[in-house]
Amino acid sequence: MTLKLTNVTKRFGSATAVDNLSLEIPEKQIFGFLGANGAGKTTTFRMILGLMDLTEGSISWNDDSINYSKSHLIGYLPEERGLYPKLTVKDQLVYLGRLRGMQKNDIISEMDAWLEKFHVPEYRDKKVEELSKGNQQKIQFISAVIHKPKLLILDEPFSGLDPVNVEQLKKAVVELKEAGTSIVFSSHRMEHVEELCEHLCILHHGTPVVHGGLKEVKRSFGKKNVVVRAD
Ligand code: ATP
Repeated sequence: MTLKLTNVTKRFGSATAVDNLSLEIPEKQIFGFLGANGAGKTTTFRMILGLMDLTEGSISWNDDSINYSKSHLIGYLPEERGLYPKLTVKDQLVYLGRLRGMQKNDIISEMDAWLEKFHVPEYRDKKVEELSKGNQQKIQFISAVIHKPKLLILDEPFSGLDPVNVEQLKKAVVELKEAGTSIVFSSHRMEHVEELCEHLCILHHGTPVVHGGLKEVKRSFGKKNVVVRAD
């Protein structure tokens, strides 16, 4: 299912957050959006998800416009984390899985498989607030993938995490890709994008500076004066 953005523009009043962005995101690959703070990555994701209207342009997925009837096929890890601190991990994931229309037994078996994969089966009955930031991020990640989406959108998934947690999440992302999920993620850091993505887009002040295959982008990136801040 190719995701296609055509002349996508988003303005907030007189400020342009995303300016005339056109690209195709191939299916079953990992696609990266690289850019500094305010480059327009989150705004682009919100438009892809149908959470925000476009000022101009169009977005289609498999030649169809994206709307809420497809939301069960999409997983989203937002930049602002949204877990309920007082719930246990199990209650949190059951709640979010039920919102996705899943049966409780399916949610629990998926949850157990993921907790096992992250080597933290004992977190099942812990309250979210008892977990470290890195482990909360894993729970947030599980909540984005528990319903086995075809398209997974991850907004700064590695931001603020220690290297061990980053590696575990990267491994999970690669496994999902190998299982056939199309993944789009954003980062401030070239090394994350370089390691994971076949294709990428560099955004700078809302403008797509360059996009395409990794090698080709790296070649043109070297010639452009774009600053991507390290976090
Ligand atoms: P970050 O890494 O900081 O999340 P980003 O690349 O995701 O940055 P966006 O959050 O998409 O960038 O923001 C792009 C621009 O649009 C910024 O200048 C931001 O201030 C502006 N912006 C985003 N949302 C709104 C809004 N609801 N109202 C007004 N301006 C907004």
